Amino acid sequence: MEYEFDLTNVDEHYLYRQIKSALFGIAVGDALGVPVEFNSRDTLKLNPVTDMHGYGTYNQPKGTWSDDSSLTFCLAEALCEPYDLTNIAQKSFNWFNEGYWSARGEVFDIGRATLQAMRKFSQGIRADECGGESEYDNGNGSLMRILPLIFYSQQESEVDRYELAMDVSCITHRHSRSIIACYYYLEFARHLLEGYSDKFAIYDRLQFDIKELLLLAYKDEDLRPFERLFNQNIWEISESEIQSTGYVVHTLEASIWCLLTTDSYQEAVLKAVNLGDDSDTTAAVTGGLAGILYGFENIPENWVNELARRDDIDNLAKRFTLQMIKHNNV
Ligand SMILES: [Mg+2]
Repeated sequence: MEYEFDLTNVDEHYLYRQIKSALFGIAVGDALGVPVEFNSRDTLKLNPVTDMHGYGTYNQPKGTWSDDSSLTFCLAEALCEPYDLTNIAQKSFNWFNEGYWSARGEVFDIGRATLQAMRKFSQGIRADECGGESEYDNGNGSLMRILPLIFYSQQESEVDRYELAMDVSCITHRHSRSIIACYYYLEFARHLLEGYSDKFAIYDRLQFDIKELLLLAYKDEDLRPFERLFNQNIWEISESEIQSTGYVVHTLEASIWCLLTTDSYQEAVLKAVNLGDDSDTTAAVTGGLAGILYGFENIPENWVNELARRDDIDNLAKRFTLQMIKHNNV
């Protein structure tokens, strides 16, 4: 008889370890950054974040994560059911409207593009047409919530993985730049999930593979914003040239830079937080990859224990794992 997994034994499956590492990796990074969001890098140089704190920017207690984690959990929750883009958008709307998957019942942080997209969705616009599509709609709001998708798409073809990333990004961000950023990030995660632990080898490989696929759909000029990631060694760039605003290219560059210039989960997310500006999102996006790379057991235990809704996140990881075992037939 085939070994059956359920909620009592799913923690023995390798996918549970990976999913838990990704979800907690994001939430811990997010919660570390929330109290200092919008602080400048210079301010943080004088008083760097080295541990989990409460209050600050949004006056939230220690361990409170924000929109980045909420929308990540909404996506994971939607993927516990058969894939349906409207369902993903609906769960995101429930967060916006009633605080579904919020840390403490309250929505205290939302990006402009996401706000506009949620309003469109409530007016009956199709899920894949809700996101803004101009060049000025390229905040990091789809990148920060996209990671659970890779557990669903990892066995699909390259083109299908790209199209899934596009669909899920389009709920809030429809411009090519946001979609390309999501796709790049998911492909980085996919190689880590496949067990490649040499992050520099993954970086080099993506420079070749990603460009090849993207040039089938886009012009050179569409890829130009990614020039440093696609054509340079980003880890050799000095901190003063890495920006950490809410622009999707800045967030993607900063998160890969933090991952490649550090040697532990803790070091990577603290470096991201202390870049300042959009601290929580930079650390959440960094933390997702760092969580997968170093594993849940290397996320500091006291930070995990201080997180809001720790047990709910763990239960979500288990339910999501059960669904992905079935979907991926592993
Ligand atoms: Mg946030």
